[in-house]
Amino acid sequence: METTKYLLPENNIPRNWYNIAADLPEPLAPPLHPGTGQPIGPADLAPLFPMALIQQEVSTERYIAIPEEVLAVYSQWRPSPLIRARRLEKALDTPARIYYKYEGVSPVGSHKANTAVPQAYYNKMEGAKRLATETGAGQWGSALAMAAAFFDMECQVFMVKVSYHQKPYRRGLMETFGASVIASPSNQTAVGRAILAEHPDSPGSLGIAISEAVEVAVSDAETKYALGSVLNHVLLHQTVIGQEALEQMELANDYPDVVIACTGGGSNFAGLAFPFIGRKLRDGVKTRIIAVEPSACPSLTKGPFAYDFGDTGHLTPLVKMNTLGSTFVPAGIHAGGLRYHGMAPMVSHLLHLGQIEAVAVNQLETFASGVKFTRTEGILPAPEANHAVAIAIREALRCKEEGVSRTILFNLSGHGNFDLQAYMDYQAGKLHDYEYPAEEIAMALAGLPNVNS
Ligand SMILES: *Cc1c(COP(=O)(O)O)cnc(C)c1O
Repeated sequence: METTKYLLPENNIPRNWYNIAADLPEPLAPPLHPGTGQPIGPADLAPLFPMALIQQEVSTERYIAIPEEVLAVYSQWRPSPLIRARRLEKALDTPARIYYKYEGVSPVGSHKANTAVPQAYYNKMEGAKRLATETGAGQWGSALAMAAAFFDMECQVFMVKVSYHQKPYRRGLMETFGASVIASPSNQTAVGRAILAEHPDSPGSLGIAISEAVEVAVSDAETKYALGSVLNHVLLHQTVIGQEALEQMELANDYPDVVIACTGGGSNFAGLAFPFIGRKLRDGVKTRIIAVEPSACPSLTKGPFAYDFGDTGHLTPLVKMNTLGSTFVPAGIHAGGLRYHGMAPMVSHLLHLGQIEAVAVNQLETFASGVKFTRTEGILPAPEANHAVAIAIREALRCKEEGVSRTILFNLSGHGNFDLQAYMDYQAGKLHDYEYPAEEIAMALAGLPNVNS
């Protein structure tokens, strides 16, 4: 029988997170204080995050030890499987070998649990009682709500209003974990009230929900803020994915020519790709690394690399990243986790250095690819993950055209079992592609902070 699944022994979870900052040929541009335009220090972030996470945010150590308490929780779903997509290969009639790392095996169904657990742990260790956060489609909110329950903490989630109404099951899951879920914009914060005064019918956005959660954390000493993507320490926690995949590719006696993941804020991409980029930077191993984003929110392929705010209310530090402007509100594509105006500074920096490629793909192609994947591999991918599936399929078909065999590895960041409405709408022909929103983006970019000039 041919091998389909590459499993590591149960106790073979990476003992360290991999910090790519140690291997970068040029350091990241520093985050700036929005008022003074000067680099911020650890003390500026202390109202928001515990010191352990702030230290990880600025660390240049190559390996950072994973605490035993976190490993104990990881062991419920890690190491996650690496699967050879043999039936998909056959359906595509491609000479390519396609592998996917499956992160949908966590209890909440996505990679987000990999960072939610250490974030809750470090906050608990430093005495926080409550975590405040934002969520779009609800994947991050449910991961943090679970982690807060594990470490006996309260959790307050500002959920983008349109998703709050459209995705009641993710909300139900968060509430079952014991979290309180508030539709954003809300009247519980000054930022929310100001937006509601101007736009009473605002559908909300991630940028707005981040502002609300940050405001709550800053104004209460016992509450800290947690972010599910973008920041260096979040990307760091996800590197368990790629470190496992490196070992599993060895089990398969293979090595990827192409590594692919979707990018919202960049964390699952970083999780899979950074350990492979590390090999590239240290040992000169040649691998193409492809970030896939939606055409409706194309920060890497269309946004300038510039300092911008991480949120709409302009409460966060300025970070240098590929951005569409902090006031840009992306169209209502079903891949809610990819609707963010910016991109992780670390991922943006690597694009700038030419270490990675980026490609944008339209909604209909992503769903067509997701349906093909479901019918061949049996797993229903999250709409976000369908972006990676689409480009893996394109690359496999290119191998067929060129008559060459290559090894393709992609991240299946989560399952889509809570997203069936989107699949039903797709099957009913109700979904469509969005034109590139040039005018809205130009308007949002006109408001970039003037530290750039
Ligand atoms: C949140 C999410 C994403 C996008 O976020 P990244 O930080 O870019 O990984 C992708 N896939 C799934 C399943 C998600 O939940």
